[in-house]
Amino acid sequence: MDSENKIIIAIDGYASTGKSTLAKALAKELGYAYIDTGAMYRATTLFFLRHKIKLENDRAIQKALHAINIRFLPASEGNRLILNGEDVEDEIRKMYVSEMVSEVAAISAVRRTMVAQQREMGGEKGVVMDGRDIGTVVFRDAELKIFLTANSEVRTKRRLEELVAKGLEVKEDEVGANLTHRDHIDSTRADSPLKKAKDAIEIDNSYISQEEQLLLALNYAKTKILDFSRG
Ligand code: C5P
Repeated sequence: MDSENKIIIAIDGYASTGKSTLAKALAKELGYAYIDTGAMYRATTLFFLRHKIKLENDRAIQKALHAINIRFLPASEGNRLILNGEDVEDEIRKMYVSEMVSEVAAISAVRRTMVAQQREMGGEKGVVMDGRDIGTVVFRDAELKIFLTANSEVRTKRRLEELVAKGLEVKEDEVGANLTHRDHIDSTRADSPLKKAKDAIEIDNSYISQEEQLLLALNYAKTKILDFSRG
């Protein structure tokens, strides 16, 4: 595909609505880069936990943000997050990180740092980025914005299966409570709350397969790419 005709695809939505599954598949089909912005907030949270950063200590937060280096290492099963040279991809998915991440992501200084890096990563276009504020804040001009939803039973079941497949011991009610907790904080925080962008296309994937969802999204993407190439 002509690199000049590459677009930005923003995928937002509540926790465990399958954003990364769709984003990864779309990126593969289109030959685009995939950026999981949730992983960046998780890695920051892991750093804060390891260094016992108090969330009300602005100076310590600033210092920590300067000490954090995040990059993605492409791997066959998807990108792996590298935090200051260490592969923390598995660690950041654990419950103790999930339990803190929304509190850390609500801090404006954290968001400013992450958003700046995300804009740099997507600056060349040809990127599928997923998160909570991609279509509303990070790339307000993204050519295609998708907002994913799914009912809470389906989401809890999906996240549970994902964690169990990774060999982690978790209880269903604990997983469900964490999703509700994060969605609440994410959608009520003052800075960049999670909400559907006015020009986003909403897809409820509670009862459609991953393949159906991918086909649907690919159609939207191809139309937007065509529109974009025609100026
Ligand atoms: O996508 P994932 O569920 O891994 O994201 C973890 C958390 O990171 C979210 O619950 C939210 O608090 C935060 N996040 C965010 N903005 C983004 C992506 C994630 O605030 N763009």
